[in-house]
Amino acid sequence: MAILVLGGAGYIGSHTVFELIEAGRDVVVADNLVTGFRAAVHPKARFYQADIRSHEQMDALFEKEPIDGVIHFAAFSQVGESMANPLKYYENNLWGTTALLQSMVAHGVDKIVFSSTAATYGEPERIPILETDQTRPTNCYGETKLAMEREMSWTERAHGLRYVALRYFNACGAHRSGRIGEAHDPETHLIPLILQVPNGKREKISVFGGDYPTKDGTCVRDYIHVSDLAQAHILAMDYLMDGGKSDVFNLGNGVGFTVKEVIDVARKVTGHPIPAELCPRRAGDPAQLVASSEKAKQILGWKPNYADLETIVASAWNWHKAHPNGFGENV
Ligand code: UDP
Repeated sequence: MAILVLGGAGYIGSHTVFELIEAGRDVVVADNLVTGFRAAVHPKARFYQADIRSHEQMDALFEKEPIDGVIHFAAFSQVGESMANPLKYYENNLWGTTALLQSMVAHGVDKIVFSSTAATYGEPERIPILETDQTRPTNCYGETKLAMEREMSWTERAHGLRYVALRYFNACGAHRSGRIGEAHDPETHLIPLILQVPNGKREKISVFGGDYPTKDGTCVRDYIHVSDLAQAHILAMDYLMDGGKSDVFNLGNGVGFTVKEVIDVARKVTGHPIPAELCPRRAGDPAQLVASSEKAKQILGWKPNYADLETIVASAWNWHKAHPNGFGENV
């Protein structure tokens, strides 16, 4: 039986495919290559260029391949874009998931693990954030992900489909082989943007806000290595295959770093002075987001292997310095 990875050409999807293949699993990848890269797909995975919004393409795939469970990454993920163009996010993230679930129900595929986000919480009521804390998204991206979680819950009641929603904090780093890493166009994430400076592609890094109520005035985030996220997806799928009940889990390291601290670590790792410029706050950024991942550790048996920020940034730098232009074109 095979695992279907939707969005398996994207950042977290491609790393999950690598971990699945290395664990000896049979893997099918579908990606529409709008934001993903064909070159990021492991050569041992069976690849389909397909869109989750197409019943025709998804039905054909479920008929052809022996799919036992689905890991779903096929969504847009830029907060700023979701505010400027919310309907694009509803269309792809929510309607896309609706179409996918319809095809899954029609073909009797009843297990799904999918990427949710810390953005489902909005401004946190406390730190570290627990899964039971209130969910009040402050951006459309988080709103669509929360709606996806609820959609799965209603689908379970009606059709028996079981799901695990993984709420990631700040995904970063690159695969230990150096073959795949983080590539977005346009890039909006802190660590790849910082590394563009020593790569000669940017003169300085902008620091969005220096007046937050944190130890140095810059935002605090919980940075978690992409390969640790990938492992959590495999554990979550095994949990569902063993009969585990539907659930939601945070995934983070449980340690917060400020923007200034991340820049300092990147200076140490790269040996480059990396000039930084203080800029106004970015709209919608909470001051602090730090996860409690105790639930994932206890129930899924998850344990991050890359808890140290310097190791994480070093793995990202290993990929970025060798691939200053990412994967190039999407196809
Ligand atoms: N950030 C920054 N400069 C940048 C990009 C991001 O200061 O050029 C800050 C951003 O305000 C946030 C943190 O870095 O506090 C992480 O942002 P990112 O976009 O990587 O992830 P997010 O926390 O939005 O998921």
